[in-house]
Parts: sequence; structure tokens; C-alpha cells
Amino acid sequence: MKVSVIGYWGGYPAPGSATSAYLLEKDDFTLLIDVGSGALSRLQQYKDIMAIDAVILSHYHYDHVADIGVLQYAWLVQSYLMEHQDILPIYGHTEDKEGFEKLTHEFTEGIAYNPEETLTIGPFTISFLKTKHPVPCYGMRITDGDSVIVYTADSSYQDDWIQFSQDADLLITDCNFYADQDGTGAGHMTSREVGMIAEKANVNTLILSHLPQYGDHQDLVNQASEVFDGRVLLAEEGLTWEK
Ligand SMILES: [Zn+2]
Ligand SMILES: [Zn+2]
Repeated sequence: MKVSVIGYWGGYPAPGSATSAYLLEKDDFTLLIDVGSGALSRLQQYKDIMAIDAVILSHYHYDHVADIGVLQYAWLVQSYLMEHQDILPIYGHTEDKEGFEKLTHEFTEGIAYNPEETLTIGPFTISFLKTKHPVPCYGMRITDGDSVIVYTADSSYQDDWIQFSQDADLLITDCNFYADQDGTGAGHMTSREVGMIAEKANVNTLILSHLPQYGDHQDLVNQASEVFDGRVLLAEEGLTWEK
């Protein structure tokens, strides 16, 4: 499967880029994970909007769902232009009723996932871990049968990440804080925490994402690398990983 980073900022996007959004592709199937601010614009540099087969959301904070509305308008306009009736499934949890209800529109349908169970979407099997965040949020462990990726979504540190990420080929983490900061109150992790998770979980490659708007991002890489022996990459638009 192939992962492409579309948006990687925490909170709000820097000019010309986007907050959380990742494309996951296998054969002809395309899953969009989170649809942050700017995601729809940036996505079109890489993929036809109508070529997306499904969307899944970790939680309903704006930096993960801001472009759901314009994605729905895009499907509405294109469905008329192309004269077809396909409905785009958007998977979300139901612990925020209002957020979940907004997923259904003329050409999109909100589908509830049960985080207690594994979910199959196209070629992907997904299991969930509740994160430590001010609102209900779920991290995902996704496999296509060949390789495994883990996406922490938004979370402060919890030991559960180590087991959940065990032996993953790729770990994409919330790395919104530098090593000397404390992300606990905000519900985010530091570079050192995610490096430690990657090391203890025996992960192959770590992508630092949900990046802060200040400081030198290379410091995040250096700090994570102090505790993790594997490969550490900084999220950037267009970054791809394939296995
Ligand atoms: Zn976020
Ligand atoms: Zn959040």
C-alpha cells in the first residue's frame, strides 16, 4: 500500500498547505484519512476528487474535518456534471452526534464505525485505539494483509501506543511539541515521546506530523532520533511511503 501526505500541520495550515489529510492507496482503491483545512485544494495536486473511494475521520476537530463541507460540494457539482449517482462513504465515530450527522449530504453518507471492532474498507482492515485528547478521537492501525501502518491522529502520550504500534512498518504520529515541552494538557505528543513509542514498538519508519507553527522542525527529527534507531521522516506535502 502507498501512503501520501497531503496535509500535516496541527491547528491551522501555513500558506499554501493543509492540516491533517493522508491518502492511502492499494490497487485501485483510495482511502482519504482526515480532511483538514486546505486538504481539498492540496489533494487535487495528486488525485482526482472523484477517484476517492472512502473517507475515514479520527475526530471532529476542525483541523481534521474543516474541508468535509467543500468535499461534499465537490461531489455534488461533479456528480451532476458527470451524471452519476455514486455516494461517497465517510466513516466517523458517533461520540459527537452533531459532527457525525454532518457527514451525510446529497452525495456523501456518514457511516458509523464501532471502535471496539475491526472495520474493513476496501482492501484495508482497520482497528482503533482511543487517544488521549480533549474530545473523543481514535488512532488507527491499518493493514492490507502485507504491511501495517499506524496513525495516532491527535493524542498525548499513553503507554497503549506501544502495543498498538507493535512491529508496524510505518508509524505516523502527532508530533505537535518539541522534546522540552509538555503536550499533556493540549492532547498532543512531543518528539521524544513519539521516538520512544517507535523504539519500544519496534517500528520500521516514523513520520512526524501534526507539526507546530514555530521552531525548527529539524529539531523534532533530531530529538526523536536520539531515542529511536529507525528511520525518522518529517511530514511534508507529497511525501510518499510505499510497501
Ligand atoms: Zn489536530
Ligand atoms: Zn484534535
